[in-house]
Amino acid sequence: MTFPKATIEGYPRIGANRELKRALESYWAGRIDADTFRSTTRALRIDTYNHLRDLGLDEDYAIPADVAYYDQVLETALTVGLVPGGTDLDEEFALARGNDERVPLEMTKWFDTNYHYLVPEISAGQEIKAVPERVLRLVAEAREAGHTVRPYLVGPVTLIALSKPAEWSLLPALVNAYAEVFSALKDAGVEWVQVAEPAVVADLSTPDAEIAGYLREAWTELLGSDARPNVYLTTPYGAAREALPVLGSLGVEALQVDLAPWTLDVDPDYAKHVREAVDAGTTLVAGVIDGRNVWAADLRKKVALLEELGVADNLHVTTSTSLQHVPHTLDAEKNLPVDVANWLSFADEKIAEIKALVAGEEAAAEAFSRSDRAVRTRAESERTHNAAVQERVAALPEGSVQRQPVFEERIKIQHEELGLPKLPITTIGSFPQTPEIRKARADHKAGVLTDEQYKEALKAEIKQVIELQEEIGIDVLVHGEAERNDMVQYFAELLDGFVVTENGWVQSYGSRCTRPPIVVGDISRPNPMTVEWASYAQSLSDKPVKGMLTGPVTILAWSFKRDDVPLSVSADQLGVALADEVRDLEDAGINVIQIDEPALRELLPLRADDRASYLDWAVRSFRLVALDAKPATQIHTHLCYSEFGQIIEAVAALDADVTSIEAARSRMELLEDLDETFHSEIGPGVWDIHSPRVPSKDEVADLLRAALQNVPTERLWVNPDCGLKTRGYKEVDPSLRNLVAARDEVVAGL
Ligand code: GLN
Ligand code: ZN
Repeated sequence: MTFPKATIEGYPRIGANRELKRALESYWAGRIDADTFRSTTRALRIDTYNHLRDLGLDEDYAIPADVAYYDQVLETALTVGLVPGGTDLDEEFALARGNDERVPLEMTKWFDTNYHYLVPEISAGQEIKAVPERVLRLVAEAREAGHTVRPYLVGPVTLIALSKPAEWSLLPALVNAYAEVFSALKDAGVEWVQVAEPAVVADLSTPDAEIAGYLREAWTELLGSDARPNVYLTTPYGAAREALPVLGSLGVEALQVDLAPWTLDVDPDYAKHVREAVDAGTTLVAGVIDGRNVWAADLRKKVALLEELGVADNLHVTTSTSLQHVPHTLDAEKNLPVDVANWLSFADEKIAEIKALVAGEEAAAEAFSRSDRAVRTRAESERTHNAAVQERVAALPEGSVQRQPVFEERIKIQHEELGLPKLPITTIGSFPQTPEIRKARADHKAGVLTDEQYKEALKAEIKQVIELQEEIGIDVLVHGEAERNDMVQYFAELLDGFVVTENGWVQSYGSRCTRPPIVVGDISRPNPMTVEWASYAQSLSDKPVKGMLTGPVTILAWSFKRDDVPLSVSADQLGVALADEVRDLEDAGINVIQIDEPALRELLPLRADDRASYLDWAVRSFRLVALDAKPATQIHTHLCYSEFGQIIEAVAALDADVTSIEAARSRMELLEDLDETFHSEIGPGVWDIHSPRVPSKDEVADLLRAALQNVPTERLWVNPDCGLKTRGYKEVDPSLRNLVAARDEVVAGL
């Protein structure tokens, strides 16, 4: 049975109208029962299969099964029994979300995407018992609806590599469980199974050379049996290095490789390397259509790439990764500028590109000429190329930039000017996003509130937030960020060089979706973005109010990126645009400015070799924002969402005056990583805002005393782990009071 000519690695499972999100949330809230949940999501899966067939994925096994309710890693772990749970729906959701009896599995980033998977907790000697029913059910329901779908599993090597700890002694038993699932699929008449082994493209805790060894061990065993379907092995998210010769000689029936621009940036000759490494008996499936970015493909470039890969006479074309990372369709976008819309491809448009490549230029002449036009107009557009921005960035010094004077001198000036008490208290920026704020924003968007009325509503909110902080006794105040829907989208809407979508939802984890903006071209700031709110807030208080900016790296990390210039170019442009905002904030009398970089760790490349150059440009772009700040302006930064131990030197290199960093859950462990290179003042979070719990005064005081073991008194700040926008006032009010009381107690004891 030959492999289909046109396929995709996976399709967004959330639903074009976020039907899965709604079904999940209704079930969790008890509004629908398990049967309704199952039948609703089944209908969604079948609708998706019908839709994909209509788009042209009409060969047998061209459609990958839509596998997971919550997460594909958890789904595989349950199917092969690495995580026990059988077929029980509530058990599955308890693993994902926790319940009264248990904490949820840890969640972390899936390779270098913004999707988060659940980390299986495993241990040597544990039982592993396959539950093939989970996947057989999907095959059967698709069949009933007339579809021959391709079941999907994360591979055994990747599954262990991503588990905690990576317990390799389990590999033989795990392989047996996969063999059992394979054999059940074969018995059910399934001819192709898709198995993803992206562990071969990343430097994980297990070294690459060892991964290659495990790959050979596991797959020699699995492929040695006849009781299995044909295997379609996939390697999304980058280029295989040490494992490539192993992959090429395993003898799998079909092998997918990732040939997206992002991958070729790192290894421009990857197609050639693959061609040389893969045995003749293996069908090469070319992942030339970018599965994780939104740009329309340059079809001629893709044809050249297929030739380089040596598959021009026997085409099998797919995406570089699952399409779960991009929105469903451009058809849902009515307000994109027309020129920009022509340059984009979301999931459905990418399927059309794959069909065009398989059909060839003669048969798909129209698609090719559309592609030519998009490539040309995008390259020539003033929207992509802004000469003034390019000149400004070209005039910047190269390499690292240094704010003057150095930290030791600045901080003295700041201490004098700000006159803050010992262990000053601040928050990270946002205050609770109340239903009233959300309503005002929605009403404004819908035209129910005029600009003036909306501004008045926001100002009333700011006033309350300022008064509350004054009353509680916070030292450095914030305006509360009520005007921001999202810390990246807010800036993207105000900067030139971005477009935002109406319906471009992408799953972040579980039922959570985000709508990433798109960096289209050179970035600039036509007008001040935050000054009005910050200066209004400052006018209400004699205490310093912090200006709040999202940093260049985080704006980029949570957006779709350009593929026509290196990321560092967009980062520099954002750096100078935000530097203008810093200057305007200073002119408006703001003396403390926070530049948030929670995503600094997120963009860290998957390969260790590539990390230094990333950190160079990332740190540089942050420093550009602060470069011309006055010595008396205190620059804060804020980091969260991951462990920063691994990149603590880069955090130090940001050269901020004050760094607030998530730390409450890990009980300040991070402070042990600090050394003399880390000079900034530091506010390790003392309140885990991800939980509705109110931290007691004693608990906060204990954390502060623990912090003082590693940080001198003059350098310690007191703050929560992150912004308060997801919390309610009934937790925020007492928690902040406890922070103040704890600080007062600790200071009194010094
Ligand atoms: N200033 C932002 C806020 O308080 C920071 C959010 C974040 O770090 N994720 O909401
Ligand atoms: Zn944060």
